[in-house]
Amino acid sequence: MYPTVQLLIDGNWGPSQSGKTLDVLNPATGEVNGTVAHADIPDLDRALAAAQKGFETWRRMSAYDRSKIMRKAAETLRTRVDEIARIMTLEQGKPFGEAKIETAFSADIIEWFAEEARRAYGRVVPSRAENVMQLVIKEPVGPVAAFTPWNFPINQANRKICGALAAGCSIIVKGPEETPGSLAAYAQCWLDAGLPAGVINLVFGVPATISEYLIPHPIIKKISFTGSTPVGKHLAALAGAHMKRVTMELGGHAPSMVFDDANIDTAATILGTNKFRNAGQVCVAPTRFLVQDAVHDEFVEKLVAHAKKIKVGNGLEQGTTMGPLANARRIPAMETLINDAVAKGATIAAGGKRIGNVGNFFEPTVLTGMTTDMRAMNEEPFGPLALVGRFSTIDEVIAEANRLDYGLAAYAYTSSQKTLQTLTSRVEVGMLSVNHHGIALPEVPFGGVKDSGYGSEGGTEAIEAYLNTKMVSAAAL
Ligand code: NAD
Repeated sequence: MYPTVQLLIDGNWGPSQSGKTLDVLNPATGEVNGTVAHADIPDLDRALAAAQKGFETWRRMSAYDRSKIMRKAAETLRTRVDEIARIMTLEQGKPFGEAKIETAFSADIIEWFAEEARRAYGRVVPSRAENVMQLVIKEPVGPVAAFTPWNFPINQANRKICGALAAGCSIIVKGPEETPGSLAAYAQCWLDAGLPAGVINLVFGVPATISEYLIPHPIIKKISFTGSTPVGKHLAALAGAHMKRVTMELGGHAPSMVFDDANIDTAATILGTNKFRNAGQVCVAPTRFLVQDAVHDEFVEKLVAHAKKIKVGNGLEQGTTMGPLANARRIPAMETLINDAVAKGATIAAGGKRIGNVGNFFEPTVLTGMTTDMRAMNEEPFGPLALVGRFSTIDEVIAEANRLDYGLAAYAYTSSQKTLQTLTSRVEVGMLSVNHHGIALPEVPFGGVKDSGYGSEGGTEAIEAYLNTKMVSAAAL
């Protein structure tokens, strides 16, 4: 049922040189699914040599031919959605339906980047003399080292792979050790689509050992990381010491503002759905629910009703709408945040507890009466906690939205054009979505500001991140 996951180096799957492996657990049962190969330095050296060779091949291929291979990879992935999604649910826990959406959506993302890959244009700048030609040329930055987490095992890696490959770069992905199987099955689609050896390499092991070796290595020219802010700051500093280009996709604490002129049904349904999707383990999940006084009680009632309808269970069972948390360590993290909030005066309006003692199941939780002295209002919960507070004026809610160092996503529900325009200009985030959940489509930028990182993993900016600009000024004599 669950594959034995190996390392992908130079177009071949194989064990690590040491033969070491790590267990992969099923978060719904606590049982061991299987194993993943554990790379050490000699394996990384092979991956680096392969990425260098893969880069030479891929950069020389025309954008037209690269695009054809990318489209074929998308088609191949689409034919394997069920099989790959099943592996994802076994290792990550999310409901099978959500795993299918992630896998199929990754194919859409590849296709969009395949199209854009043909449009990484340079430009001609008019010169000051008739015999001078000034060109701006876009070139791939070189082999990339990418570090991707376990919450969206395919999608997080896919965005980095697509940006890099569309630009003509090769890549070494240090994938998530908790959820390696679906990513490996996804990578096989690229091989079956005819991707040259060494263009995508996939390794697993001790994250710190791998990042400390790959980031300074002279073959690696660009770093991309998705994960927590503390780790991101550490890796960005390391990259800075070696003058490597960096994209950082870090944590968030999305303010979700509900104004008294909003459609409350829509707000409660859309925010509730996106809060508890993937058990809240989403960097752009709505987190601080800030509700204007006049509609506070109505909104809470509807959000609580939404939370209580969620069916928590094994993601492979029919009818499950929320799976377990992916890692056992997230259970005490939730309990600590809830206990702290309750001790400081919050009320548990729904959920609040672990479910059973087998698997990492946790109740969809709504806390009300949240105030800024509570830890959960300052630390990213990364779990199924909706934190509800209230506000009176727009200035007050904007101050709260901007209070934290995070600046990834924000949401607002209002029918006022004036409110929309004020939020657009004053909320400090990389992404603002109003009256719907309009985040993460491949054609729009995806990224944060402040401690949520920098760079984009969507839109044309996502390819630019993997390109160098070369200016050529030539005088004809
Ligand atoms: P963590 O900080 O231990 O790890 C986060 C990710 O970083 C993991 O994928 C891990 O493998 C990787 N990592 C850790 N140290 C590393 C290093 N030295 N070099 C390279 N990679 C390294 O946290 P966790 O318990 O796995 O996850 C919980 C926290 O991580 C959450 O609070 C959330 O902020 C963050 N997170 C964010 C995202 C996201 O989508 N932005 C995804 C997963 C986790």
